[in-house]
Amino acid sequence: QAKSAGRNQYCFYQASAGQQTADELRLEQGLRHALQNQVLKVFYQPKVELLSGRLIGLEALVRWRDAELGQVSPKDFIPLAEKLGLIGTLSEQVLQTVSQDIQQGSLPQVPVSINISALQLAAPDFSHKLLATLRQYAVSPQSIELELTESCLIPEQADATLNLLTKLRSLGFRLSIDDFGTGYSSLSYLRRLPINALKIDRSFIRELPHNNEDNQITLAIIAMAKALKLEVIAEGIETPAQRAFLLQAGCHTGQGFLYSEALAPDKLNDWLPDLVNISLQKPL
Ligand code: C2E
Ligand code: MG
Ligand code: MG
Ligand code: MG
Repeated sequence: QAKSAGRNQYCFYQASAGQQTADELRLEQGLRHALQNQVLKVFYQPKVELLSGRLIGLEALVRWRDAELGQVSPKDFIPLAEKLGLIGTLSEQVLQTVSQDIQQGSLPQVPVSINISALQLAAPDFSHKLLATLRQYAVSPQSIELELTESCLIPEQADATLNLLTKLRSLGFRLSIDDFGTGYSSLSYLRRLPINALKIDRSFIRELPHNNEDNQITLAIIAMAKALKLEVIAEGIETPAQRAFLLQAGCHTGQGFLYSEALAPDKLNDWLPDLVNISLQKPL
């Protein structure tokens, strides 16, 4: 009796202090539980050559289905994991799953992209841990692309970040800037970074080719990538008209629901022939 009163009191204190709503607390407990029991899954979204539909890569995207909460979006639980200091644990589990999937031959043999959060990249043992896990599964850095967001590139850490990225490149990793165009990275800094590719954020792709501002922004990003000798890839392609615009504009690679959402490894293999078929629809 005293015990349960104590527990109730604790909950009441939490709520009344305005720190956490019941929903947030439930999400936090669910996430802790999911990490403890290692129930997070990794799905893979195809990246394709737009003209041929050929598969050129996969993006690993974490998935969490909670018994009570249902499917929870990474947009909700990644920031929470960061806030709770659990992003290292989460990322390690994702990396282990990806490495295992590669080692077991469950994935087509193309580079696999992994999303790296800013906090993760800033951890002093980031590259050490990354290499240790890959080695454990005999996965080569050459088969991994690291997707960094512009928030990874904070100006105060410019030199340290440049050094780290240079080291990662020399180890064989591919590097790309995710959600490009939504952050604040300066072009002069970007020019110095040893990156392979820019990923045009989905927010600029969404209204192509009907929104002239977005058309112009997309053209500008593509031109800039070319000038800096970087590859460019579009996220969130949903319609044939978006694909046609991108091809015309000189962006030859992309990913999006037009091709496929992220899929479990077994489903992915069923999908491969269909990817090519979409490209039989001629661009305008
Ligand atoms: P992101 O890296 O930019 O990933 C692309 C997101 O857009 C994914 O959402 C993907 O499912 C979605 N998407 C792809 N194509 C389309 C499309 O045609 N239409 C629409 N509406 N959406 C599309 P998801 O899986 O919910 O992930 C959201 C974000 O969460 C990711 O954005 C990434 O920043 C983060 N994230 C996901 N997995 C991980 C992870 O393992 N580690 C870390 N640190 N972050 C992750
Ligand atoms: Mg990404
Ligand atoms: Mg992205
Ligand atoms: Mg995005």
